[in-house]
Amino acid sequence: MSAAPDDARTRELAAALERVRRRVRTAAAAAGTAEPVLVAVTKFFPAADVVRLHGLGVRDVGENRDQEAAAKAREVRALVEDPPAWHFVGQLQSNKARSVVRYASWVHSVDRASLVDALGRAVARHREAAAAGEQEPGPCATADLVCLVQVSLDAEEHRGGARPEDVVELARRIEDTEGLRAGGVMAVAPLGAEPGPAFDRLREVSQRLQEALPGASAVSAGMSQDLEEAVARGATHVRVGSDILGPRPPVG
Ligand SMILES: *Cc1c(COP(=O)(O)O)cnc(C)c1O
Repeated sequence: MSAAPDDARTRELAAALERVRRRVRTAAAAAGTAEPVLVAVTKFFPAADVVRLHGLGVRDVGENRDQEAAAKAREVRALVEDPPAWHFVGQLQSNKARSVVRYASWVHSVDRASLVDALGRAVARHREAAAAGEQEPGPCATADLVCLVQVSLDAEEHRGGARPEDVVELARRIEDTEGLRAGGVMAVAPLGAEPGPAFDRLREVSQRLQEALPGASAVSAGMSQDLEEAVARGATHVRVGSDILGPRPPVG
């Protein structure tokens, strides 16, 4: 394993990571729950930062655009012996499924049946290609791709996601697809609304899902601004970008 380079950026990341880890620990202790997995969202930041975070013990990394993620995953893989698990957290077009399954272990943003089918076909194809030595095997060559159903918590905001009433059916479709596993649910708190009530609704959706599929217990919720609210309401995975890596350039 490569040691973290000891440069100014590494020290900056170490300090920010420690602050976030402490927030997560404190929130989990206050809620009396197990500590959630911290997914460091590295979009817009270079592979070198992923390698630095890896040296600081981060093993779960999130990205939201395939082109950027695919290139970064390739770079990181060349630099560390035990690469992190890549979590795809962004809107995903079905025609990107074949690329995503070559590096991702998790997709947090499954919001429609056609995407489930595309991911299933993509995993099958990747497994064939890896077995034939035509593609370097990614994590889902041997393990099922964990898929979370992204839930829309506010229909008016159009931030993506399935309607709460469609979640169980979509998760069953995932579970019934060879190569995929239904891991649970994911959501982004609606813009301009209190995150707490939104995460309460997500928890209800998760409980209903677990009555149908007890193994689908992951709840991916909480970002830099609202991770405490999410952990207080049962998040098992928090996705934190800017409070670890710094501000992103404004999206045009
Ligand atoms: C960028 C992003 C995050 C991280 O957001 P921060 O506010 O930077 O912590 C989490 N989830 C998704 C889906 C994202 O796109």
